[in-house]
Amino acid sequence: MHESHQVQGLIAKANDMIQARGIKKAKKVSILVGELLGFDEGSVLLHWEEMTQGTALEGVELKVEFVPAKLQCPKCAEVFPKKGSVLSCPKCQLMGIPTSAGREFSIKDITG
Ligand SMILES: [Zn+2]
Repeated sequence: MHESHQVQGLIAKANDMIQARGIKKAKKVSILVGELLGFDEGSVLLHWEEMTQGTALEGVELKVEFVPAKLQCPKCAEVFPKKGSVLSCPKCQLMGIPTSAGREFSIKDITG
């Protein structure tokens, strides 16, 4: 799946952050994963574990936080979270337009 490529990019970013912050040994890395990407947590964890072997990030605790998808109403501009298969504006009942919320794949924080 495409998780592996994305995780690889994330590891590169994590390494940059560790160097920039002067962290010698990272303990925990929190990442944000948008719900719309459809990534599987287990798969992300597995790729992370495999790809960090033998690096400064080996054995670090990876915390995956899913970011819910949000939609925007084309009429009243209300931004609302997607609830299951419900895609309509809670005010106007019009079909919402996807926003960038829910497509994240980034590092939230690293603690050393
Ligand atoms: Zn609306």
